[in-house]
Amino acid sequence: MSTPEWLESWSDEDGAQRVRALFAQVFGEDGGEPDGVWAAPGRVNLIGEHTDYNGGLALPTALPHRTYVALRHRDDDTVRLGSAQAPGTLWTASLADVAPGTVTGWGAYVAGVAWALGEAGHPVRGFDAVVDSCVPFGAGLSSSAALECAVAVALDETAGLGLAADDAGRATLVTACVRAENEIAGAPTGGMDQAASLRCTAEHALLVDSRPGLSALDSGTPVPFDLAPADLTMLVVDTRAEHALVDGQYAERRATCERAAALLGVKTLRDVDPDLLEETLAALAPHDADGVLRRRVRHVVTEIARTARFRDLVTDGRVAEVGPLMVASHVSLRDDYEVSARELDLVVDAALDAGALGARMTGGGFGGSAIALVRAAEVDAVVVAVQGAFDAAGLRAPGFLLAPPSAAAGRVA
Ligand code: ADP
Ligand code: MG
Repeated sequence: MSTPEWLESWSDEDGAQRVRALFAQVFGEDGGEPDGVWAAPGRVNLIGEHTDYNGGLALPTALPHRTYVALRHRDDDTVRLGSAQAPGTLWTASLADVAPGTVTGWGAYVAGVAWALGEAGHPVRGFDAVVDSCVPFGAGLSSSAALECAVAVALDETAGLGLAADDAGRATLVTACVRAENEIAGAPTGGMDQAASLRCTAEHALLVDSRPGLSALDSGTPVPFDLAPADLTMLVVDTRAEHALVDGQYAERRATCERAAALLGVKTLRDVDPDLLEETLAALAPHDADGVLRRRVRHVVTEIARTARFRDLVTDGRVAEVGPLMVASHVSLRDDYEVSARELDLVVDAALDAGALGARMTGGGFGGSAIALVRAAEVDAVVVAVQGAFDAAGLRAPGFLLAPPSAAAGRVA
C-alpha cells in the first residue's frame, strides 16, 4: 500500500514567517515591512449540503488550515499581489477599475473584498500584499473564502474600520466577502464559507441559517462541537477527484429547487414542513413524470431536518450519536440529489467498514472532500482502509487532514 499523505496545518508562527519572507522577496526593492500578518481558515461542512440556496441550514466548522496574508497599506489606489500558490507573477490593478466583470484571475477574490467594503460605505485604499496557504485548493474546503476573509480582516484593521472586533461587525465583513466572490470573482455561492471563516470559534460549529429576511448577524449561531473530550476526531479526505460539468450541475440543481418552490407556492423549500413531506411530494407528482423533482425536494427537506437534529444532539452533548445522520445525509446526496462521485462513495464505504461512526461527502459534490467521524484510537485504521481502497481502485492518492473545530480569521503577527 502507498503511504498515506497527510496535509498538515501550519502553526501561526510558521504561516507568518512564510508570508513575511515572501513579502520581502516580492516587494523588497521598495523596502519596508508589512503592516501585519492576518490569517483566515478554510472550513468543512459537517452537515447541511445544497441547503443554503433553499433558505436552509448548514453546520460548518473552521479548519486549523489557514491562508496567511502579509499586507501593507498604500496611499494610492493601486493593488499589487503575490501568492506562493501563483509564483513568479505580480497581480496588479487600480481599485478605481474594479467592478463586476472587469477583473480576472485570483486577484479578483482579493480586490473584490476592497470593492465590496467600499460599496458598503467603508472605503479602503490600495495595498501591497502576499499570501500563502495550507488550505487545499479546489477541494471543497473553501480556499477562496479563506483568501477573501484573510484580506477582509487585514483591510479592516489597516483602514481602521474596527469591524472584526465583534460578531456584528464580522457579519458585515461576511457580506462583503460574499459579494466579492459572487460579483467580482463571479462564483455563485451562498454565504456559508465566509460565515465559517469569519465567525467560527474553537470547539464550536456555526449554524448558518439562510432563511430569507434574516439579518446577517442572526444567520450565524455558535453550536458546541467539542470532539476531544469524547475521544473523537473529524477526519477529512481530499479525494483529488476531478470532474467536468460541475458548474452546469450546480445551476441545474438550483433551478430545479426554484421550480419546485414556485409549484408549491413557497418562497424557498425551507418553508416545506418536513412532517408534511409525503403530501408535498404528492402535490408535485403531476409535474414530475420522471420523479427527479420529487427526489431533489426530498433531499433538501430531509437534509434541513437532519441538520436541525444534528444541532440538537450536539447541543445536548450527544456528539457520538450524530453518525447515522451523516450517513443518511450521504445517501440522500448520492441517491436523491445525485451529486456524489465514485471517489466520495469509496471514502464513505471504506471509512464505515473500518469503524467510523459516520461519514459523508462534504461540499457541493462531484469530487472534493469527504469527512468521517472516527474514534481517536481508530484514525489510523480508517486512513489505511481509505488509502487501500483508493490503491485497489487504481485512483490518484487522496490527501488526509485532521479537522478539530478551530478559530476564525484574525491578526496573527
Ligand atoms: P475552494 O474554495 O473549494 O478551494 P474555489 O474554486 O472556490 O475552490 O477557489 C479556488 C480559487 O481561489 C483558486 O483557483 C484561486 O483562484 C483562488 N485562491 C485561493 N487561495 C489562493 C491562494 N493562496 N493564492 C492564490 N489564489 C488563491
Ligand atoms: Mg470556494
